[in-house]
Amino acid sequence: LQEVQAVDREVADAITAEMERQNSHIELIASENWVSPAVMEAMGSILTNKYAEGYPGKRYYGGCECVDIVENLAIERAKELFGCEYVNVQPHSGAQANMAVQFAMLTPGDTVMGMNLDHGGHLTHGSPVNFSGKYFNIVPYGVNDEGVIDYDRVMEIAMECKPKLIIAGASAYARVIDFKKFREIADACGAYLMVDMAHIAGLVAAGLHPSPIPYADVVTTTTHKTLRGPRGGMILASAESNEKFNFNKAIFPGTQGGPLMHVIAAKAVCFKEALQPEFKAYQQGIIDNAQALCKGLIDRDIKIVSGGTDNHLMLVDLTNYDLTGKAVEKLLDSVNITCNKNTIPNDPKSPFVTSGIRLGTASVTSRGMKTEDMDDIAEAIALMIKNGEDSAEEVKAIVKKLTDKYPLK
Ligand code: PLP
Repeated sequence: LQEVQAVDREVADAITAEMERQNSHIELIASENWVSPAVMEAMGSILTNKYAEGYPGKRYYGGCECVDIVENLAIERAKELFGCEYVNVQPHSGAQANMAVQFAMLTPGDTVMGMNLDHGGHLTHGSPVNFSGKYFNIVPYGVNDEGVIDYDRVMEIAMECKPKLIIAGASAYARVIDFKKFREIADACGAYLMVDMAHIAGLVAAGLHPSPIPYADVVTTTTHKTLRGPRGGMILASAESNEKFNFNKAIFPGTQGGPLMHVIAAKAVCFKEALQPEFKAYQQGIIDNAQALCKGLIDRDIKIVSGGTDNHLMLVDLTNYDLTGKAVEKLLDSVNITCNKNTIPNDPKSPFVTSGIRLGTASVTSRGMKTEDMDDIAEAIALMIKNGEDSAEEVKAIVKKLTDKYPLK
């Protein structure tokens, strides 16, 4: 950080402190990851200097011959990785991708079905405080008392409200999502189907979660969660679907200006990494670690929504310990374990307080941790939930042992 330090000590110090925080903490936020040095280097490159409004071969600025190579590489690799015909790698984030897709497929006032935020959906799937909830007539669907999507109920709601679009995908759902069922529901009620696979994109790329590509009219994702790329978004579709909706136009000039070419370069690097055989082993490691963490918690009498997980995350239900998600997030923070409070299905508490926490294993797996380490983490979390600050010193020692064993490079 020599250059930043020379110009701006305050920012340099904050970045250095953040590096130390990441190194000394166990990161269990399910939407985060630790990128490879190659992804990081591409993201911090001189490509940030370049304006490239438009698309490869059709730009509104000169001097785009090098960035065209980069964007084409990102597009071609994403097509290969996910087996689809059309990709747009320009969305600055997952929210931007979702906004552009809704802009392309809908007109204000249309009816949209999305998963309830309180049941695991995302803000951009119809929350009243988001553009999606403000511009469209949202009819939410959710999970049943077991914490699992009830497809029969989704069908009933869809047949009743006849939405123009159904959004499948979630931010806090631990079970396999049946995209084929969602297609059947969309066909039955005459809706388009959008899948937001942001959380599970890495698992889908590795063939460890069924792909939405054969079923959805359009798929959106972030690139920075299980996929382990830079912070950003992406849109994927069939050539036919893109012909109909013109997603490129919805991104630029519809909802964005110039693309972030340094981030697109990092996406290209991430996709190349994801096409290697090691990536599948890494994604399997994420799932194995999630299973081990889940088992470790259940064995210690900690309740998990839906009783387990099929992917990289789990929702801990704290109601039988009479604790809030907010309190446990803070308790764990005090012993260097980072996670986020999360509502559980039918949560009596507000989203600022909640009755649960969400835990994910993508970051700790990138760091090299294995299933036996997950049992130590489960022990640490269970001690804090059961004994609170009385166990703080013991738990800090467990965390230090793990973070020392797997230093971030
Ligand atoms: N979609 C889903 C399912 C998400 O979980 C998230 C972020 O957590 C997003 C979209 C939004 O991504 P971003 O934060 O990049 O806008």
